[in-house]
Amino acid sequence: MTNRYAYLWLVVAMGVWNTLCFILPDFFDSPTDGWRSVLTVILYVCALGIGQIAIASLLALHRYIAALCLPLYAVLGGVISYYRVAFHATVNPALVDATLHTNMGTVSGVTSWQLIVWVVFQLLVSLLWVRWRWRIEKVPQAWVILIGSIGLFAAWYWGNGRLHKSAAQRYPMHVIRSVGEYVSLQRASNLPRQIPKVQATATTDSLDIIMIIGEAARADHLSLNGYPRETCPRLAARHNVVSLPHIFSQHTHTAASVPHILSPADSLHPELANTSHSFIACLRQQGYTSAWISNQDYGRTYAPFIYEADTILFPNASKTVFVFHPWYDLDLLPALQNLIKEQTETHRLYVLHTIGSHWFYNNHVPESCIRFQPTVTNRVITQNDSMAVINSYDNTIVSMDLFVDSVISLFKDRNAILFYLSDHGESLGERGNWLHAAGAKETKYPAAFVWYSEKYARTFPDKVAALKENRTKHFRTDYLFYSLLSAAGLQADGNNSSFDLFIRKSAAKNP
Ligand SMILES: [Zn+2]
Repeated sequence: MTNRYAYLWLVVAMGVWNTLCFILPDFFDSPTDGWRSVLTVILYVCALGIGQIAIASLLALHRYIAALCLPLYAVLGGVISYYRVAFHATVNPALVDATLHTNMGTVSGVTSWQLIVWVVFQLLVSLLWVRWRWRIEKVPQAWVILIGSIGLFAAWYWGNGRLHKSAAQRYPMHVIRSVGEYVSLQRASNLPRQIPKVQATATTDSLDIIMIIGEAARADHLSLNGYPRETCPRLAARHNVVSLPHIFSQHTHTAASVPHILSPADSLHPELANTSHSFIACLRQQGYTSAWISNQDYGRTYAPFIYEADTILFPNASKTVFVFHPWYDLDLLPALQNLIKEQTETHRLYVLHTIGSHWFYNNHVPESCIRFQPTVTNRVITQNDSMAVINSYDNTIVSMDLFVDSVISLFKDRNAILFYLSDHGESLGERGNWLHAAGAKETKYPAAFVWYSEKYARTFPDKVAALKENRTKHFRTDYLFYSLLSAAGLQADGNNSSFDLFIRKSAAKNP
C-alpha cells in the first residue's frame, strides 16, 4: 500500500471510530418513534462523522503532532462520552465553571472503575493509531491534504445552519466553545455597570423576595387566566395568588428577554440591559443576601447579573437543551431548602431560573404532572401530532404549578413575596409557527403572577390592594424591576409609577 492510501485508511478508520465512541453516545437518549426518526438520527450521526474525519486528518498529518494529540483527543473524548452515557451530562459553560471550582471530594464521587477502564481502553486504541501513523514515513502532498482538510472542516462546521447548531454541541467543538464562552462571560461580568439608585419608602423587620424566571410559559395556557384545561390546580387553590394575564414581552427569546426583565431597561431605554446592574445588586446594597439557583445555563447576556448574587447554584450544571433526558425544576428545591435553613439573615432574595416549558417538553415534566395524553414522541417538533404537542406543553404548565406551589410552601409562614414571570411565550402551531424567538404574537404574552404571604399582606396592605386593582391592566415586562423593588419598600430612580404594580393608578397604557 502506498503512503497516500495508508494515510487515507488511517484517517477514515479514526474518523469512524471517534464518531462511534464520542458522537453516537449523544444520541442514546434521543426520543425516536418509528423508522423515519431513527433514519434522521443516523443521518445526523453520519453528517457529524464528516467533521471527525476532517479533525482526524488534521491531527494525523504530522507524526509528532499525532503522537501528542491523538492520545489527548482519545482520553478527553473518553471522559466526556462516559459522563454523557452514565450521567446524561454534557459540556457547557456552567460545567466548565463547576469543574474549575470542584474540590477533590466531589471528583471522587463521580469517578468509577468503569470510567477508568473506558478511558484506558481509548488511550490504548489511540496508541495503535499513533503506531500506524508512525509507520507511514511521509504523507505525499501534505500541503494539499492540509488545505483540503481545513476546507472540509470549514464546510462541515459552517456550511449548513442546522448542522452547525448540532456540530457546535458535539465533541470536540462543545469543549472549545464552552471554554471560550466561559472566558468571555468572566470578561463581560467585569465590564463597568451602574448600580441603579434607590431610596427606601418603607421598612420591614424581615422580608424574603423570590423571583422565579419562567421559560416559554404563555399566559393563555394557565387555568388561572381562564384556560379551559386545569393546568394550575395548586396555585388556584392558594389564596394570595394574583395572576397578571396582560403582560407584554417585546423580546421572544431568553438571551434578550432575561436581561431586560432583571435590569431597569424599558422600551425607551433598552440599553440599560447592557449598562446597568440588576435588582440583585440594588437589594444587596440595601442589606439583602442573595442567591441565584438555576436550571439553565449561564447566558452571555445575563451572566453579569448571576455574578451579582452572593450564592450561585446550578444543581443541573451538566444539562443543556441538547440532552434529551429528563431534568426537572423540582431539582432546585433541595438547594433552596438548604439555603433557607442555613441563612440567618432577615432580608433575603432568591432568584430561581427555571427550565419550565422549554422543548423537549416531556423532559421537564415529572410523572405526577402528566395530565394530558398522548404526548410527543419525536424530538423534531413538527413531526409530532399537533394535539400531542399541546398536551405535552400543558403538562409543563402543570409541572410549573407544582414547582411554584412547592416554593410557596417554603415561605408561607414568613414575610414573603414571590414574583413569577416567564421570559416569553411559545408558539404551538399557530399559522405554522412553533417554539419561540421568531417574534410571533403568542410568544409575546408570557405567564406572570405574584404571590404574597399573609404576613406580607398585613405588613403592606396598601401595596396588596394596589396589586389587586392593577391585575387586569396591561404592562410591559418593564414592570418587573420597579415592582420588585417597590414590593421591598424601595423606589428606584426613574420609577415612573406606570411601571409599578404596587401603586394605585386610574389607568395604564396599553403596550
Ligand atoms: Zn426562554
